Amino acid sequence: MALSRLLPRLQPRPEPVPEDDPAEAPAAAEDMPRLQAVPAPAPAQTPTPSPEDAPMANVIALANQKGGVAKTTTTLNLGVALRELGRRVLVIDLDPQGNLTMSQGMNPDAIERSMFDVLVHRIPISDVIKPVEVDIAVASIDLAGAELALSALIGRERALDKALVEVRDRYDWILIDTPPSLGLLTINAFVAANGVIVPVQCEYLSLRGLVQLENTLAMVRENLNPRVHVQGIVPTMYDGRTLHAREAIEILEEHFGDLVYGTRIRKTVRYAEAPVKGSSVLKYDPSGPAAQAYRDLAKEVLDGAQARDDA
Ligand code: ADP
Ligand code: MG
Repeated sequence: MALSRLLPRLQPRPEPVPEDDPAEAPAAAEDMPRLQAVPAPAPAQTPTPSPEDAPMANVIALANQKGGVAKTTTTLNLGVALRELGRRVLVIDLDPQGNLTMSQGMNPDAIERSMFDVLVHRIPISDVIKPVEVDIAVASIDLAGAELALSALIGRERALDKALVEVRDRYDWILIDTPPSLGLLTINAFVAANGVIVPVQCEYLSLRGLVQLENTLAMVRENLNPRVHVQGIVPTMYDGRTLHAREAIEILEEHFGDLVYGTRIRKTVRYAEAPVKGSSVLKYDPSGPAAQAYRDLAKEVLDGAQARDDA
């Protein structure tokens, strides 16, 4: 279900983001107008999978152009929770800050080959996958230059999608952690994904930000990947004691209905402590409520996938 359906007065703009809106979505404004300018790859080379021959892996982008909303925390802990449930999981660090890579105890500054080389130099993604709590395709500091390096390449929006061909049948779930922008790296994630999960911080709810995200997704759907949709919204950093947080949830549910997962990821310092130890919260504090929250979310995500398969 498109967010826009629930927000009839805020229909996705059919045209690229106008240039007089740079503060809100600078990267998208820069990238999107050129999506159509570059010759698209021949359709025969990049067929859009029909539902019947859909890839085995469920590819999910964790996205929100706002920073600090728990994209990285959710990518890792949801990934580990799905693994606990017996699923084959790959997580991909597509953020030049490398927080996901760090949260598994690796130093992005000391990594030789990373997602940068996968996207720009087209090395196999299996060369940058490290088996830790889950398999992780790592980021390094030079990923910061990927948007610029990619922008000169034909098919720059499909670099990740192409790289995933090698591993789509090796995993049940591929979760992509994206940077806090709607730039070319996030667009690559949207093109490769069949679903987007949006973590939203209950404290600083930005409905406008969510509409912008859906506008970008709508453009990707139109030009590059008709499959991709918002699959769910995860309320994070929830503090049920405050009226503010409860109201934030009410507003989310009012606007987005069933898209809002029932699981509330509560605010607790456990989520900040775990990455310091290089581990997920499921490993750091396996029996605590912080770990349980992501197990609950994993079940909801699996139920949602099952319901879509059955439909
Ligand atoms: P993003 O990837 O969206 O920038 P992060 O996952 O890095 O966000 O989270 C931002 C910060 O908030 C991190 O320090 C993280 O440990 C912390 N954090 C994440 N989830 C929670 C939570 N539910 N409660 C408290 N702190 C959290
Ligand atoms: Mg992050």
